[in-house]
Amino acid sequence: MSNPSLLILAGDGIGPEVMNEVKKIIGWYGEKRDLAFDVEEDLVGGAAYDAHGTPLTDATMERAQNADAVLLGAVGGPKYDTLDFSVKPERGLLRLRKEMDLFSNLRPAQCFDALADFSSLKREVVAGLDIMIVRELTSGVYFGEPRGIHKEGNERVGINTQRYTESEIARVARSAFELARRRNNKVCSMEKANVMESGVLWRQVVTEIHEAEYPDVELSHMYADAGAMQLCRWPKQFDVIVTDNLFGDLLSDAAAMLTGSLGMLPSASLGAPMANGRPKALYEPVHGSAPDIAGQGKANPIACILSFAMALRYSFDNGDEATRLEQAVEKVLADGKRTADLLGPEGGTPISTAEMGDAIIAALDASI
Ligand code: NAD
Repeated sequence: MSNPSLLILAGDGIGPEVMNEVKKIIGWYGEKRDLAFDVEEDLVGGAAYDAHGTPLTDATMERAQNADAVLLGAVGGPKYDTLDFSVKPERGLLRLRKEMDLFSNLRPAQCFDALADFSSLKREVVAGLDIMIVRELTSGVYFGEPRGIHKEGNERVGINTQRYTESEIARVARSAFELARRRNNKVCSMEKANVMESGVLWRQVVTEIHEAEYPDVELSHMYADAGAMQLCRWPKQFDVIVTDNLFGDLLSDAAAMLTGSLGMLPSASLGAPMANGRPKALYEPVHGSAPDIAGQGKANPIACILSFAMALRYSFDNGDEATRLEQAVEKVLADGKRTADLLGPEGGTPISTAEMGDAIIAALDASI
């Protein structure tokens, strides 16, 4: 059997720097855990624009469609700010998400004990937090028609439409229930069924899928505004939260900040299963290309490394090795090793991007 394939699109700014550390870790798995991947690399974003005049070539798109998983660093930078909208670096990322039909966006909010004091909430509220927000990514109010700004009489009117079909709700609900079965078996679905018909349908469809296919998973419903309050009051009550594109955008950012630094946050975007049973999948850190620190060895590679851990778990069905990698990160943080973004007001000496990668590899070595 051939090795599973990975397409690496490191992108711009700190993207290639943090991805270098992921490449070391991929190498470690091949060497030490008999878990080798066939890795290809290609360009995306500004790097692709510089080489080809487009932020994603058709050939790269095809490679992404054929890979078992895509790992992306970050795209964008001031150099590209004045480009036409159609060739901006972000268009490369949007094209990947759209053409791979990645409808389920997984954003974990996990608080490592060593960083609990970084949160704006009290330590006891966030220490040990481990929740997952599943956001519908390809429909809803960001895509619904009609949309636009029109003139009505003497004034302008801005219009967007919240629109969901049953099948769009059903597929993201299934994705959340499947995830919950691998975690603590609880799903909370959030909408605004009190004031929105699309929310009423959302609640009906989630309930139907639950009764028919996932009766073993505990399901609750919450209005999204109440959900936002509960996330700040007692986030540990949740396991998996499933919600639409708009509410998911807001709730996942709020939940992410419970845990502290942008340099720590991974994500996965999943689509329908391919012929080999694996979902179409793109893994990427939540942060951008950080042009203010690019090329200085200051970037924190952990968000990108934890995105690879998500790939091990969700594309390659290897939860044990994903946990090994997450525990290695936890160990390094517990030992007090910090990139500059993780130093608190009391300061300290930061380690570099490469030193953080090496420390995580040393912790992986110690784990076998
Ligand atoms: P950003 O996430 O790049 O940076 C915000 C701040 O966080 C900066 O001060 C940066 O130094 C810091 N930071 C981010 N990641 C870090 C890391 N791993 N380690 C240490 N510090 C880190 O957001 P921005 O400054 O708003 O955007 C910069 C560029 O990135 C823009 O061109 C934007 O369009 C693009 N962007 C891309 C993505 C993506 O590729 N998915 C996401 C967001 C922004």
